[in-house]
Amino acid sequence: MKYSIGVDLGGTNIAVGVVDEAYAIIKKGSVPTLAQRGPESIVRDMAQLCKKLLAECGIPEEAVAGAGIACPGTVNPKSGIVEYANNIKFLDFPLVRLFSEEMGLAADKIAIGNDANLAALGEATAGAAKGTSSSVMITLGTGVGGGVILDGKVLTGCAYGGAELGHMVIEYGGRPCTCGRHGCFEAYSSATALIQMTKEAFEAHPETLMREMCGGDVSRVGGKTAFAAMKKGDRTASQVVDAYIGYLACGTANLINIFQPEVLTVGGGISGEGDYLIVPLKEKLSHEIYSKDGVLKTEIRIAELGNDAGIIGAAALTASR
Ligand SMILES: [Zn+2]
Repeated sequence: MKYSIGVDLGGTNIAVGVVDEAYAIIKKGSVPTLAQRGPESIVRDMAQLCKKLLAECGIPEEAVAGAGIACPGTVNPKSGIVEYANNIKFLDFPLVRLFSEEMGLAADKIAIGNDANLAALGEATAGAAKGTSSSVMITLGTGVGGGVILDGKVLTGCAYGGAELGHMVIEYGGRPCTCGRHGCFEAYSSATALIQMTKEAFEAHPETLMREMCGGDVSRVGGKTAFAAMKKGDRTASQVVDAYIGYLACGTANLINIFQPEVLTVGGGISGEGDYLIVPLKEKLSHEIYSKDGVLKTEIRIAELGNDAGIIGAAALTASR
């Protein structure tokens, strides 16, 4: 049996998994990233955690087929260099070379990729889009992340900064986005955007049940508030959810019209709403997709791997090269 290592390097935590040939995580651990201390220390901790987990599993180094690292930002898989990742302070950083030295693992056994892209690869390998050769994943969290898998390959673009699905404009001149543009998909379909829309409805509608649920305190509005009040029959909350899913359908229809994937996977915090999200989304999509009969060929599924998607995608990347 051969094993691979998947590393998900995030702004808060470094998560590592030892993954078997069937892409099951047999051992997992994490340590804080502490991004302020600089990239070399982060790489040292990554390698130490990998070695510790391998030792705990009793796996010798020669049984390690490869290691993959999911990293935020612009990641060049050919040179092994992270060109730019602002949240962990990496700038033209030779991640593969240094990780190779720390691990004592040949550089050609180490693969790196963008974290959102590798989460999509993870779902395509062992999650909601398993068994497909084309899939798109969107993650509805603080922002909107995404990844595109076409013919089994991660779509990265010519300079590895492609597939920024959250920064496609769906409302020209609309709400400001963190990227500097206005009207991005992310500015309407992230959890942050849902919270903002919920707060606006909370302020505008004194009768809404959402006020009672939050003790009258608008700062207690969260990503679940509107869905929870809608389930209790609150009209204002239903309108918020309907508007939110309308924007989500707009962006998702764009992606389906461009890529027509076999499966579109929805992950991130808001995906926890399950059918309350997916059923109305499909209904709206049937009116928005480009097709002769309004029949949605793409299956819409909730992501299955949660926080493990990056680890499994990173491990899968070592095998796909
Ligand atoms: Zn944007």
